[in-house]
Amino acid sequence: MESASRPISEPQTEAEVIKTWGQLSILIRLTENGEREYEVRHVEDREKDSSALDIYRDPTVVRDLSRFTDDGDYRPLRTAPTLPTGWSFETGNPDELYRVVDWVYPATIANWNLEREDSLDVTQFEETAERQTGIYANIGNLDREALENAVVACCADSQCRKRREWDASENDEIDVPRGDGEFPCREPCSLFVAAAREFLAVEQGDAERTEPTFERPTGRDANERLAQLAFVDDVSDSSVRDGEVSDPANRYRARYRRAKQFTAER
Ligand code: SF4
Repeated sequence: MESASRPISEPQTEAEVIKTWGQLSILIRLTENGEREYEVRHVEDREKDSSALDIYRDPTVVRDLSRFTDDGDYRPLRTAPTLPTGWSFETGNPDELYRVVDWVYPATIANWNLEREDSLDVTQFEETAERQTGIYANIGNLDREALENAVVACCADSQCRKRREWDASENDEIDVPRGDGEFPCREPCSLFVAAAREFLAVEQGDAERTEPTFERPTGRDANERLAQLAFVDDVSDSSVRDGEVSDPANRYRARYRRAKQFTAER
């Protein structure tokens, strides 16, 4: 990939440049003899002394460790803000840097670049739903309000580092903040599709009576609704994996139920 299409610009006059990409903090340093060094860490580790971190020079190690959270749980959504901490990757090779970033956040550099060139191909929920088969074939039956609540539950900045660019359909914008992420989300992901199926089941009433309820919210607009959901992340059962959306204690499901309750009480 040409350097012009890389989101991580090279230092020109500064000796050091730090870029953030999702939860990655990338330091680019010019050595005294003019060579470039790259160091990738979790943003929370940026200020830590190197001796407190595990240092790696093999990109595949970072690829493998990024699949699990600090607690050892598998990360079904690679852009969820659950990237593990405690490591540092160092290299002088820009291709290895690119590979690490692309492994941790697949396709995000390519999509960022397409967006910059105004050629990002966005797939709306309507089209994604039409393409589904088998157990996901009915997700298009999610009504408009439920779709909005699903976006609140899954796509908020607190849940995903991508910036949502898709909507219900070409002329039907979803009134939920898109997020502040550096890189775009060009279509509903597989986790969102799986969650939509479960939320449809909630709508159809087959799980309502057994699931927890939450205190009455007071906020009125979409931003307040997102803020009100923060406490759900605290009360959800952390032993239930993110991918187990059918479990009533699942975090996404709890967030959905809370968003739905909020919508009903507006
Ligand atoms: S659909 Fe939502 S949760 Fe999935 S990657 Fe896009 S923004 Fe993130």
